[in-house]
Amino acid sequence: MSTHSDSRPRRTFAVISHPDAGKSTLTEALALHAEVIGEAGAVHGKGHRKATVSDWMEMEKARGISITSAALQFEYEGHVVNLVDTPGHADFSEDTYRVLSAVDSAVMLVDAAKGLEPQTLKLFQVCAHRGIPVVTVINKWDRPGLDPFGLMDSIQQQIGLRPTPLTWPVGEAGDFRGVLDRRSGDYIAYTRTAGGATKAPEKRMDAAAARASVGDLWDEAEEGHELLSMDGADHDQETFLAGRTTPVLFGSALQNFGVAQILDILLDLAPPPGPTPAVDGSVREVGDDFSAFVFKVQSGMNAAHRDRLAYARVCSGVFERGMVATHAATGRPFTTKYAQAVFGRERASVEIALPGDIIGLVNAHALRVGDTIHAGRAVTYPPIASFAPEHFATVAVTDTGRWKQFRKGMEQLDQEGVIQVLRSELRGEHAPVLAAVGPMQFEVVQARLESEYQAPVRLEHLHYQMARRVEPEQAAEVGALRDVEVMTRTDGTLLALFPDKWRLQAIERLNPHLRLHSLVAG
Ligand code: GDP
Repeated sequence: MSTHSDSRPRRTFAVISHPDAGKSTLTEALALHAEVIGEAGAVHGKGHRKATVSDWMEMEKARGISITSAALQFEYEGHVVNLVDTPGHADFSEDTYRVLSAVDSAVMLVDAAKGLEPQTLKLFQVCAHRGIPVVTVINKWDRPGLDPFGLMDSIQQQIGLRPTPLTWPVGEAGDFRGVLDRRSGDYIAYTRTAGGATKAPEKRMDAAAARASVGDLWDEAEEGHELLSMDGADHDQETFLAGRTTPVLFGSALQNFGVAQILDILLDLAPPPGPTPAVDGSVREVGDDFSAFVFKVQSGMNAAHRDRLAYARVCSGVFERGMVATHAATGRPFTTKYAQAVFGRERASVEIALPGDIIGLVNAHALRVGDTIHAGRAVTYPPIASFAPEHFATVAVTDTGRWKQFRKGMEQLDQEGVIQVLRSELRGEHAPVLAAVGPMQFEVVQARLESEYQAPVRLEHLHYQMARRVEPEQAAEVGALRDVEVMTRTDGTLLALFPDKWRLQAIERLNPHLRLHSLVAG
């Protein structure tokens, strides 16, 4: 397989959703509509559909979930579209947040029957915090579901984003005939194909033809359209880019309905790669010297090769394989001679990559999540924020003969950002505490220590549920409080651990002079 990176305009986005809303199904449907250039990493099929790419981890196979993040590149209407995959499981939200630092826009999938779910709300918040424009897609409209106006209200009320539908469904959920294209007033009629395995035929017609075709259903859709306009719920490009409004589309990923509209909207409205803010407050323009930042590091994808892969997003300039870049964190030269792109099991060289593209750097041992590499003028991008852990466990190697391997494995998993690692003098260097956003991260650590480092471990959950950052001069005082423990994270941050929010609130009330900083997502 070869890549055909070129100078065509880019769109780089992620599909985000609560698990089961249809992300994998939509990814496959998008690939059907566009010509796939390459798949970097893992895209997972489920059930009868073929498991498209990587099955590097037994756990993934067993659970049928995607733990790895990957990028899929395809071309559509003269554009190169980079779809950065996000893990589907709620526990891997930390990983999802990192991926969102590599995209210019997001497509939020909402299950028409379930409406907004916990992960939907969290992800919307992160997008808002990061200023990422979001296109909302109400999926599974082929099945009975909620009232469309009710869905719009809940987006407005629970998320605070103003929905501006670009299409409006013709036929209620479960009786999906097509959509009214609110920008042209046309009817786009959908025709069912078996299982949505092929591109669904779409027929565009004007209002008169629509009325003749579906009668009352068309009138109802037009009424809905007019109500929305009266309410001011029309698309506005400026507020969309500012993250205050979200264009909405209706579709069915499974039936392949509305998928072309998603791609059209990405090309029409979603922002192309733009200038990237650097840590010193300056910005790096896309046309400047080459720079990229690492948003994901992964190892163990290939047991035989023991390799380590760093995924980086190109921010500026042109990446050319073989170029020597500088690793901003160390100032050392970083050679890309052996850098490759990884397409599932296949590896191919990326000869050239442009801003917005994702490159997979093989055996880039020096690179860590958040690192910058650049050519020419120096630049360092801000670190990717880490997240407030809510689950804590001690970890101990069960076979003391494997101590060295255990230590090496822990260091690696820490660097990859699989888990946060905390230590304290009290517990000693040999007894780290693992801190996770979701408890499944513990299982990944355990499985990988065992399979990749032959270091079986025993985990014991601790009763803490909350963490706050403390300032060094107050660490001793906080650590002396009953039920509280202060530990140091690998990045040097001091974290105080509390059993629950009630205990934390009581401590804050009784000790107003303590500065306990919450660890903000995003
Ligand atoms: P993910 O967890 O978000 O990746 O969700 P999947 O793509 O695996 O979909 C979860 C389930 O919903 C699967 O059984 C899909 O077949 C089903 N599904 C996805 N999209 C649609 C849709 O548009 N309509 C219907 N009826 N089912 C869908």
